Amino acid sequence: MSADPHPPELALRLLVRDQELADAVRSALAPHFRLTVVDGARCDLALVDAGDARACELSGGIRGAAPILALGPAGACLEAVEAGANDWVTTPFEPGLLAHRVRTMLRAAQPAVAGHLPSGPREADRTALGPSLQRALQRGELLLHYQPRVELATGTVLAVEALLRWKHPELGLVSPARFIPLLEESGQIVEIGEWALREACRQNRAWRDAGLPHVRVAVNLSSVQFREPGLEGTIARVLEDTGLAPEGLELELTESMLLRDADATLEALHTIQSMGVHMSIDDFGTGYSSLSYVKRFPVDALKIDQSFVRDMTASPTGSAITTSIVLMGKSLGLAVVAEGVETRSQVEFLRVLECDEAQGYFFSRPVPAEAAAECIRTGFAALLDARTGAAA
Ligand code: C2E
Ligand code: MG
Ligand code: MG
Repeated sequence: MSADPHPPELALRLLVRDQELADAVRSALAPHFRLTVVDGARCDLALVDAGDARACELSGGIRGAAPILALGPAGACLEAVEAGANDWVTTPFEPGLLAHRVRTMLRAAQPAVAGHLPSGPREADRTALGPSLQRALQRGELLLHYQPRVELATGTVLAVEALLRWKHPELGLVSPARFIPLLEESGQIVEIGEWALREACRQNRAWRDAGLPHVRVAVNLSSVQFREPGLEGTIARVLEDTGLAPEGLELELTESMLLRDADATLEALHTIQSMGVHMSIDDFGTGYSSLSYVKRFPVDALKIDQSFVRDMTASPTGSAITTSIVLMGKSLGLAVVAEGVETRSQVEFLRVLECDEAQGYFFSRPVPAEAAAECIRTGFAALLDARTGAAA
């Protein structure tokens, strides 16, 4: 993870008695945040040594006021705790993961916590991109690219993920990581998200009409869209208008989305599931990764975040996390998809784990619809077999 040139400010409450652990935490976070260590409940985030009874007791006073992240005994593991809930999860402690988790927690706690985090790059994007973004849809500058999701046992393309692209007249292709936060902030994501959903469904119906093997099209949903009333109705209308069968659509949700308002979310997801639309959890492992909530929500697949896939063949921690997510998904009867698969050794590792599907540059980058159609038609059996001998 690279250091942020304009790190946001973070008021951190450290309930960690072990000096070595406290130092490790500070040095893991320092490149990513301007840290102020504070005392009391008024903090953006509290880090607690779960092995220290006194620290845990003190954290009771913070619970509900700020998100709490708990470090396991002697820093051996990292546990995430949802503010106000009693939902503890353990994953191996890794300094690189800590900053990532902190960011995810702050985002999930929006707007109360993350709202006031000044972020350099976003501020710059707001001025540079904001005004032209408002007109991007009308000017036809937004488009979708598609990235295949490949069944690892056969090389068949089972799904394609629709990924938003912005062709800026002067800047060229702008990354969604830069402009989606702006769309979310202005609320435009509702309109543009609906456009993306409609366009992806239209495209999939067109592929089916052209006689291509049937795939699902996976569309990312923003938490802002999820909070809007009437999402279920929008989905039903888009399917009807485009003539795509519901099983041809998958919605990618994020962990924080599921946690925000669990009861309302659960109801919406059940309605969507009853239509026959598939659902998956995107970037799995970066949020709370709790078995209990995965079991509660009617999702069909887990997408392992690419940060774990990247580390999978490089570190024992990376391989441990990926292995446990695959096993966990399988034990719950969910399909498991590895994201960001770039190398053959990652593919081979995932095949040994019997991970169901993979998506990443190894197979194809996100590409325009015509190129995606070619991937769907030919599949990737030849690539999988190329140097591995017979398919596993
Ligand atoms: P995501 O949904 O997790 O999408 C996967 C991202 O990983 C994509 O980035 C994709 O291009 C990238 N990727 C795929 N394979 C590889 C690989 O092998 N290596 C590496 N390094 N990267 C890989 P992209 O297209 O820049 O999108 C970033 C994020 O923007 C997406 O993450 C998603 O959260 C969001 N996004 C994109 N389109 C939409 C949309 O229509 N609606 C919403 N709400 N969010 C979207
Ligand atoms: Mg996605
Ligand atoms: Mg993802």
